[in-house]
Amino acid sequence: MLKTDVCVIGAGVVGITSALELQARGADVVLVDRCDFGRQASFGNAGVLSASTVLNVNNPGLWRALPGLILGTAPYFRYDLIYAVSRLPWLLKFFHRGAKRYTRATANSLHALQTVSLARHQQLVSEANADSLYNARGWLKVFQDERGFDAGALERRLLEELDIPYQSLSADELAKVEPGLHPIYHSGLLLSATCSVSDPYLLCKAYLELFRKRGGKFELFDVVSVEEKTGAYSISSRDGQTDLRSSNVVIACGPWSADVCSMLGYKIPMAWERGYHVNVESPSTRLSRPVCDVQRGFVMAPQGETTRITSGVEFAHRDAPANYSQIYRAYRDAESAAPIGKMTDEIPWLGSRPTLPDGLPAIGAAPRHSGLWFNFGHQHIGMSTSTGSADILADAIEGQSPCAISQAFSPQRFRI
Ligand SMILES: Cc1cc2nc3c(=O)[nH]c(=O)nc-3n(C[C@H](O)[C@H](O)[C@H](O)COP(=O)(O)OP(=O)(O)OC[C@H]3O[C@@H](n4cnc5c(N)ncnc54)[C@H](O)[C@@H]3O)c2cc1C
Repeated sequence: MLKTDVCVIGAGVVGITSALELQARGADVVLVDRCDFGRQASFGNAGVLSASTVLNVNNPGLWRALPGLILGTAPYFRYDLIYAVSRLPWLLKFFHRGAKRYTRATANSLHALQTVSLARHQQLVSEANADSLYNARGWLKVFQDERGFDAGALERRLLEELDIPYQSLSADELAKVEPGLHPIYHSGLLLSATCSVSDPYLLCKAYLELFRKRGGKFELFDVVSVEEKTGAYSISSRDGQTDLRSSNVVIACGPWSADVCSMLGYKIPMAWERGYHVNVESPSTRLSRPVCDVQRGFVMAPQGETTRITSGVEFAHRDAPANYSQIYRAYRDAESAAPIGKMTDEIPWLGSRPTLPDGLPAIGAAPRHSGLWFNFGHQHIGMSTSTGSADILADAIEGQSPCAISQAFSPQRFRI
């Protein structure tokens, strides 16, 4: 049986960066995962390291979009009716938190978290010798018509208020900035402070190697029970057999975090926003940065030799069978956007974004257990926000008093 100061459960990007940060602060850390590291959402995302995602999915515009969402005419969203009905209380809270009165505070919190995160990614990328994965050419949103561009007015206002640089582009300017796109777009928005990586899995691998090189242990086992016993936690992969004893436990299991928290009696209000990707042959004039077609709800992200197309949101149970209609549609739409080639994957990839009703992650002390810590719920931007969340978590574990940023993410805000 292993003994340690901190056991981090879940080796997605959030768990790996949490382990690295705690190790850097002097803790003895064991990182645990049941099926290798970085193979879930942290594998399949678009690799955007955002400095500019300050308007959440649940924003004042969501009510206006509601008829299209319900009728299934919005290409960036599909839902499973039974799942949606079963999560009705969650959905009502999610919509409620999209109200105008919360927009500015949410934007402030997300901005602060992304700012810390990006600076820390830059540092870690260099320490982990992963510079070749890193792309600092920004990220581009493109609009099919004036209506689409105008619908982004609130986002642009927030960017201005928060001093986040952006450039509005006409169709001609867009052609110069991203010549790999077909000239079908009305306009664009270049978010120059945002960065990206050409392979999110390889970034996780580089971070994990750094953690191991610095003496961290990575163990493979499926955690089926976490119990508090005599001032420490017993973490087990099989009933009755303790694999690990740890003074502190961090739950960073992404979309499975609610399952692990329930082992200690917590009911986490988490829902899943599923997403798909396909990798395709890149166009001859490669895209130089990730491009998001806002109205049709897909992203094209250059990934080494291929381009990754990611879909919008599918509101369905995490474990329900895949429905590829949305990603195949995104692939067809992407063919009209850039001269991409054939799919290089046999079947599309599917994963789940873990989302809490206010659209903010839960980072910090569990409400009723000393030594138990949460870091999950990073929804659409967990690749980006992982490193900043690790920083907030480590401050909390070290006993530093909470600051304004960390309070917004405190798990204590839920009655769980
Ligand atoms: C299509 C798509 C595109 C996206 N694009 C972006 C993007 O461009 N930029 C961005 O910032 N974010 C993006 N995201 C979101 C981002 O991928 C997630 O927010 C982030 O990866 C979540 O990381 P995580 O470490 O919390 O979870 P995960 O990566 O899901 O990792 C959780 C880990 O916990 C482990 N685990 C679970 N249960 C147990 C258990 N009982 N015992 C042991 N281990 C366990 C799992 O095996 C897994 O390895 C995207 C998501 C999707 C789906």
